[in-house]
Amino acid sequence: MLFRDVIGQEELKSGLRERARQGMIPHANLFLGEEGSGPFALAMALAQYMSCPHRTDDDSCGECDSCKKFASFQHPDMHFTYPIYTKGDVSKNVSTSFNEEWRNFIIGKPYPTFTSWIEHLDAAGKNMEVFVGEAEVISRNMALRSYEGGYKFQVIWLAEYLRQETANKLLKTIEEPTKGTIFLLVASSSDRMLSTILSRTQLIKVNAIADEDLTGAIQQRHSLDPQQARDLSQFAEGDYAKVLAMLNNAEGQKELLGQFTSWMRACYKRDASELVNMAAALGGAAKQSQRQFLSYALHFVRQCIVNNYGQTDLARFTSEEGAFASKFAPFIHHGNVLRITELLNEAMSDLFRNANGKMVFMDLSLRLHHELHRPQ
Ligand SMILES: [Zn+2]
Repeated sequence: MLFRDVIGQEELKSGLRERARQGMIPHANLFLGEEGSGPFALAMALAQYMSCPHRTDDDSCGECDSCKKFASFQHPDMHFTYPIYTKGDVSKNVSTSFNEEWRNFIIGKPYPTFTSWIEHLDAAGKNMEVFVGEAEVISRNMALRSYEGGYKFQVIWLAEYLRQETANKLLKTIEEPTKGTIFLLVASSSDRMLSTILSRTQLIKVNAIADEDLTGAIQQRHSLDPQQARDLSQFAEGDYAKVLAMLNNAEGQKELLGQFTSWMRACYKRDASELVNMAAALGGAAKQSQRQFLSYALHFVRQCIVNNYGQTDLARFTSEEGAFASKFAPFIHHGNVLRITELLNEAMSDLFRNANGKMVFMDLSLRLHHELHRPQ
């Protein structure tokens, strides 16, 4: 990973490079920030930079033997630990038994998320942790001599998933590492982490990516026009992982808007046959789709209010949504917004309780008709 491939975060990057050149990188570091703001990417760029013999003030060379090994995640002095599930023999509950899955997952994905890792392993519903056997593997790795004569790195991706006993066993290794060993812990939340681990690491706080940096990166990496890139960046709020998730589901978002638009028009007009059809379609869909649709409706209604209060630049609409919102937002006002929100939330709870979907949507539609006609 080159520093120039990490989106934004210029100040942080320049601080890291400078400390690396001065040999001032502490032996234990914690990159803490939302997955999509780039804590993992920054840790990777730093390790590569510290090891590149031809680095400049700005970046690693990207072409030497060391850089190539980092890029393919095959550097012998780079060790990875990550949460896994129990697979067969308990003593084998260590990251290396998932080596192949990990490499396939991580190559070309510098903004990994826990959710996508679970999907990759097909491990939904399984308990994912860093089990205690891992502490021994890490101590062993760190006791080895460096293969290439430089630094040795131990990355712990998602350090918040270290089990307590794993963390306790690691304390000594982290506190008194062998020479040339650098710990790179990556986490999105410090709440679950032991204070004893936190106090032994240098905190590197990774904030959300600045809007203009994220917009630029989206435009460049995904060949979108400036307006589309701005729309996505608005929604993602500095989180590149969210951008990727939305791009993967762009069709899904469009479909939701289409459904919501038709539903609101039918509710407003009290178009009986259309409402019956829609209640049948929505109510007959999978529970998860029903909840997703209602969450979308709630999001849309909230953004209409933000928009109505004159904060148009804060309303998080894509341009396609904005076109409908400009006509629809005036029908959402202080006289009905609370009730509409309540009705949507009630429908959501009814669906959770396995009420009949068609009836829930039909009832909701008629009540919304009433609210949309309520005077301001
Ligand atoms: Zn290099």
